Amino acid sequence: MSKQVTIGKSDVVATPLGMGTNAVGGYNLFPNLDDATGVKSVQTALNSGITLLDTAYVYGLGHSEELVGQAIKDFKREDIVIATKGAHDFSTGSEVISNDPKFLTEQVDNSLKRLGTDYVDIYYIHFPDKDTPKAEAVGALQRLREQGKIKAIGISNFSLDQIKEANADGYVDVVEDEFSLLHQDHGSDMMPYLKENNISFVPYFPLASGLLTGKYSNNQTFPDDDIRSQIADFKEPRYSNALSAIDQVRPIADAHSATVAQVILAWYIENPLISVVIPGAKKPEQVEANAKALNITLSTDEYNTIENAFKGFKDPSGKSL
Ligand code: NAP
Repeated sequence: MSKQVTIGKSDVVATPLGMGTNAVGGYNLFPNLDDATGVKSVQTALNSGITLLDTAYVYGLGHSEELVGQAIKDFKREDIVIATKGAHDFSTGSEVISNDPKFLTEQVDNSLKRLGTDYVDIYYIHFPDKDTPKAEAVGALQRLREQGKIKAIGISNFSLDQIKEANADGYVDVVEDEFSLLHQDHGSDMMPYLKENNISFVPYFPLASGLLTGKYSNNQTFPDDDIRSQIADFKEPRYSNALSAIDQVRPIADAHSATVAQVILAWYIENPLISVVIPGAKKPEQVEANAKALNITLSTDEYNTIENAFKGFKDPSGKSL
């Protein structure tokens, strides 16, 4: 039996490495995606021992959920942990974030249809809106949990104050937010509250959009229409500092006959603040490689060496620089 984690106070149990599927059907986020490659990537994840799939309505406006639904058809539903998210409302022709209880309730039913299943393991409110009292939005999800349509309740991109408001009745099981070795902001503010309230944490962008795989070098440039040309991590001096930190991880990867990406994913798996790490992937080979991180155990020295390599990205209070 591989390593397992429990999501918050729910009975949802998953491997501590999942798969992020924003590049599976997420045509509005990435150019030139191929549906068949996306389906194969999800199936490769499940065949490689990964159990949790992280999708959302907004990844391809339902298309990612549809492809995940296709991919899981030949697997046993109870062996898979499906996490999806909703809050984006395009019904007026433009993008509006809504946490309205009626809207969220409809969104869950639509997600179930696209995924071809009668329950989701984790449903996240993808972003907070301005108007809905947070506990009312979460209350709508609690009613769906009572109906068996949701097993665990998540919120994503909420500030600490918003998390506290959302969790007023103790219903929140999991928080998803950006966190990586390059962005460790929430280590100091949010984590103590999550721990005290038995709320799991799922970090997104764990590979910093591929930078933390160690595949880039100093002379890499990106064309203007490539999103990486806009991301601060790929700009100087941050970019060179990240490459220097990654170089300190290489001997650890070599010692495990592994890649930099695999030992960095192993670092997240061993990090006590983190429940499930969900790297994204554009092709099955990447998923298969990432899944091998489940079999790597870092020594305490190796874990600390990786953490220290990136300490230049944190200020003394633990905030990201
Ligand atoms: P990420 O995990 O930091 O980076 C994933 C990218 O790294 C892949 O698309 C691939 O891109 C590259 N990569 C992955 N494995 C690799 C390997 N073994 N070797 C070489 N390159 C590899 O970023 P992300 O996928 O955007 O974020 C992860 C997941 O978090 C998403 O899929 C999504 O499910 C979730 N997410 C949630 C939110 C939210 O608001 N809740 C926001 C963002 C993301 P290239 O091949 O192009 O280099």
